[in-house]
Amino acid sequence: MKPRDNKAEDPAVITAINGPVVKVKGAGQLSMNEMVVIGEDHLPGEVIELFPDGATIQVYEDTTGLKTGAIVSGQGIPLFVELGPGLIGQIFDGTQRPLSAAFREGGSFLRKGKATEALARDKPWSFKPRVKVGEDVSPGQVLGEVRETVSLLHRVLVPPNRSGRIVAVVPEGAYLLEEQIALLEGSQGERTPIPLYHRWPVRKVRPCKERILSNEPLFTGQRVVDFLFPLAKGGTAAIPGGFGTGKTITQHQLSKWADADIIIYIGCGERGNEMTGVLEDFPKLLDPRTGRPLIERTVLIANTSDMPVVSREASIYTGITIAEYYRDMGYHVALMADSTSRWAEALREISGRLEEMPAEEGFPAYLASRLAEFYERAGAVITLSGDRGSVSAIGAVSPPGGDFSEPVTQHTKRFVSTFWALDKELASARFFPAINCLNSYTGYVDSVALWWKETTGVDWVKMRDQALAILKEEARLQNIVKLIGEDALPDDQKVTFYGAGLIKEDFLQQSAFDPVDTYSPAPKQVFMMQLILRFIELMMGAVTYRIPVYRLMELPVLEEFHRMKYAYPGDDPAPFKTLQARLEEEFGELLKRET
Ligand code: ADP
Repeated sequence: MKPRDNKAEDPAVITAINGPVVKVKGAGQLSMNEMVVIGEDHLPGEVIELFPDGATIQVYEDTTGLKTGAIVSGQGIPLFVELGPGLIGQIFDGTQRPLSAAFREGGSFLRKGKATEALARDKPWSFKPRVKVGEDVSPGQVLGEVRETVSLLHRVLVPPNRSGRIVAVVPEGAYLLEEQIALLEGSQGERTPIPLYHRWPVRKVRPCKERILSNEPLFTGQRVVDFLFPLAKGGTAAIPGGFGTGKTITQHQLSKWADADIIIYIGCGERGNEMTGVLEDFPKLLDPRTGRPLIERTVLIANTSDMPVVSREASIYTGITIAEYYRDMGYHVALMADSTSRWAEALREISGRLEEMPAEEGFPAYLASRLAEFYERAGAVITLSGDRGSVSAIGAVSPPGGDFSEPVTQHTKRFVSTFWALDKELASARFFPAINCLNSYTGYVDSVALWWKETTGVDWVKMRDQALAILKEEARLQNIVKLIGEDALPDDQKVTFYGAGLIKEDFLQQSAFDPVDTYSPAPKQVFMMQLILRFIELMMGAVTYRIPVYRLMELPVLEEFHRMKYAYPGDDPAPFKTLQARLEEEFGELLKRET
């Protein structure tokens, strides 16, 4: 990218530098949100304020050594990303500069000001056209396909702002990113060459034909998520939790198991060494469905806290724009941002440098609207070419001290429909996933109810309601038990107490590290819950016969209950049926003995 020359009589020059924020005067040629390059090092920046005689610019690089008087040149375009084959498997920084190469070379990040193109220019892609000369094409239509990785077919689209008649299209073969693969002629006879990629401003929502309500869950194989607090495809979720409560493991589990075609993982502002762990671990993860590396359908964006703060602010827009691009191909994309708190801290730091009036806890007043802008870009859509695609956005929140009343958690709650509240006490009791069922919620029960009915044939809503009611009642009883002990509870309350114990230990607790338990298909989740609810029903029945509840808790079949999550893989109903038969038989015998 060549800097645009400033007119000699009005060069924009730096007058003041405050960390990543610089003031310039003579900005007559600059426009709002325009990308700029600064000084001899060509540091990249973005115009964030314009005055009659100057501008404020945020710089995506460390400004150490930068001097006043340095020249600022406008690029004529806002901050953009390159969208085309070669995104998958890459690790980018917040402004889409590839980190993979630098990272592999020894873990150090990019050199200052080093201009790098996001997508490789020298790699040939085998392209298969899907259109013919003479065809009229509209924005978003598929021009052809590239096999981007073994796991992913990349659809090359007419960019959203282009349309016309195809006057030339290349035959099937290998092409470089910048080569023309089709030539479009517009209604005025103007011709536009279309290469394998296009640019898109990161802060601009990519268009679709229609936003739709999703009626399918983003199925994850994690029981507490799918069964109690599901996320719809195209939905929004937050995972708030203090240090060590399992945010990272949960996001890894979701990345591995969610039935999304593409994963976008934004590692935002974690300490350098933590992020290095993610960057090292992620490429090693295997996609359980294909046995291939998960990275073959993943894009990683990394901004550690030792990298420039402004680039961190940009990273979630870069990530969601890439997510929308794959959505436009008709894919289901799951985007994880870990953590949005670090991103909000970047906003706070920049706002402080701009000397803006701080709102709660020093965050700028526009924190809420920025969070909304991010989560609003999630959604299920009919794409411009008529396919269905979705972007599900999942943001981890790391509230200081695990206190959910702080501004980032509170504002996030306003914009997400699913809230998986991680709990310090559960985590310290090694109860994982440490999701607190009483503080969590989902707004997608109605959306996904039919999916459960069609997939498993049961009334999932009713089962879920029963399970949640038992958990809620048990929480109330816990207070009494603390005072008087569980033995003092009347028998019907003991049923709730023991029943909730079964739901928690045999259903909700799920080990990410056990080869079988790490993923539960939907039928298995239903079989397990059916058995537990049936056991609770039998306990209730026993109470009416005045059989002491503890006698049921001594039934040998319960041993098998505790093993079912580890012992029965897959979705074969047979072992669960056998278990149910055993339960009924042992209960029948108990009844005979006791009555
Ligand atoms: P955070 O990112 O919130 O700081 P981590 O995701 O690193 O927390 O989790 C901390 C530890 O908790 C992990 O090292 C692991 O031992 C345990 N853990 C978290 N979730 C699970 C899980 N689903 N299954 C088993 N262990 C878990």
